[in-house]
Amino acid sequence: MAKANPFEVAQKQLDQCAKIIKLDSDVHAILRVPMRELHISLPVRMDDGSVKIFQGFRVQYNDTRGPTKGGIRFHPDETIDTVRALAAWMTWKCALLDLPLGGAKGGVICNPKEMSQTELERLSRAYIQGIYNFIGPDRDIPAPDVYTNPQVMAWMMDEYSKIAGKNQFGVITGKPLRLWGSAGRDDATARGGIYTLREAARECGIDLKKATAAVQGYGNAGYYAAYLAKRLLGCKIVAVSDSKGGIFTKEGLEPEAVRKYKAKTGSVINFPNTKAISNEDLLQLEVDVLIPAALENVITERNAPNIRAKIVAELANGPTTPEADDILYKNGVHVIPDFLCNAGGVTVSYFEMVQNLYMYYWEEKEINERLDKKMSIAYHSVLSASQKYNINMRQAAYVVAVERVVDAMKLRGWV
Ligand code: NAD
Repeated sequence: MAKANPFEVAQKQLDQCAKIIKLDSDVHAILRVPMRELHISLPVRMDDGSVKIFQGFRVQYNDTRGPTKGGIRFHPDETIDTVRALAAWMTWKCALLDLPLGGAKGGVICNPKEMSQTELERLSRAYIQGIYNFIGPDRDIPAPDVYTNPQVMAWMMDEYSKIAGKNQFGVITGKPLRLWGSAGRDDATARGGIYTLREAARECGIDLKKATAAVQGYGNAGYYAAYLAKRLLGCKIVAVSDSKGGIFTKEGLEPEAVRKYKAKTGSVINFPNTKAISNEDLLQLEVDVLIPAALENVITERNAPNIRAKIVAELANGPTTPEADDILYKNGVHVIPDFLCNAGGVTVSYFEMVQNLYMYYWEEKEINERLDKKMSIAYHSVLSASQKYNINMRQAAYVVAVERVVDAMKLRGWV
C-alpha cells in the first residue's frame, strides 16, 4: 500500500475543519499552502576529504500570530512534503496552546547514524549558514526534532551567533541547560500530556488512582509518560512496549526500574515477572488509559473496534487514522488528540525563548506550573468546541486553532 503523503493528509484535515466552521474560500486557500519555503544545497567536507552535497529545507507555514517555530529533522527519508505537513501542524499546535507563534519546520536529507560527530557539526553549521537570513529570534526559531539533539542546537546557535557577531541564544530552543536551555524541557512533552489526561479523567468521571494504563513506546515520550502517570496521577502501569515487543503484569510496573533494564539490555522485553505481549495486544488491553507514544498509524480501522481503553492520550504524532477516529468516537472513547496531548514540548520551548529574551531563568517548579496552566486551558477549549459543534476532539482542536489564526489574519487586514 502506498504511504499517504503527509502534506495531503494535513490539507484534508484542514478541509474538514473548513467545512465545520464554514470558512471563507479565499482564507481557506491561503491556509492550504505554506507562506514561504527555502530549499538549499549544502556542500559539506567529509572526514575522508571529499565534499558531499546535502539537500535542506526550511518551511515557514504561517506567521500571522507571531514568529514561526518548529523543529529540524535530520533524516534519510526527509521530503519537502513531510516538512510542509509538520510546519502546518506546528501552526495549529502553537495556535491551540495560544502561544504568540506561527508554525515552521526544517529538515536535511542525511543519515546521522552514518556520520561522525565532526561531519554532523559541519553539516549543522552549513545548514545555519544556508538559512541565516531566513531565521532569527524574532523571525523563525528552530528546535530539535528527529535525530537532532541539544548538542546540534548548541552548534547551530553558535554558528548563528558567529555570523551575527554577537551571542544570539534566543535563535534556537532545546539547547543544553549550560547554554541557556530551559529547566523541565526533558519531560515536557509527557508532562503536558499527563496534565491533559488528568483533565480528561475528570471529564469522564474516572478515578486515576484506581486506573490502569498501557504505554506503547518507551523513549522520551513513553518513559516519562509511564513515570509521571504513576507518580503524579497514581495510575497503575500494567503494560509498556518498545520496537521489540511489550510486557504486561497486572501487579503494575515500576517505570524507573524498566527504564534501567532497557538501558542495560536494549529493550523492555523479558523484564522480570512480566508476561510477553505484542505491540498489537497492548493496544487492545482492557485498561482505562492507553498512551500511544511511538509511531504513527497504529490505531486503524482494523483494530479500533477492539480498543477497550476509556481514554486514548496521543503522545505520538498521528497514531490514529481518520477512519479509526470515527470508530473510537462512535464507541465513546475519549481521545486527547496529538497536537493537544503532545504540545508540552513546544510550550516549554516557548518558555525557553522568553527566558532567553529576559536573561532570567525560572526554576523547574515554575515551568511546570506554567505548563499545567497552558495545557489545562487548551484541553478545555478543545472540549468546549467538541461539545458546541458535536464533533470529535481532533476536529475540535482544529476548529479552535484555525479560528484563532483566521481571526488574527482578519485583524491584520490580510483577508
Ligand atoms: P524516541 O525515539 O525517544 O522513542 C521512540 C520509542 O518508540 C522507542 O522506545 C522505540 O523502541 C519505540 N518504537 C519504535 N518502533 C516501534 C514499534 N514498531 N512498536 C512499538 N514501539 C516502537 O522518540 P520520542 O521522542 O519518544 O517520540 C515518540 C513519539 O512522540 C513520536 O511520534 C514523536 O513525534 C512524538 N513526539 C515527541 C516529542 C518529544 O518531545 N520527544 C514531542 C512531540 C511529539
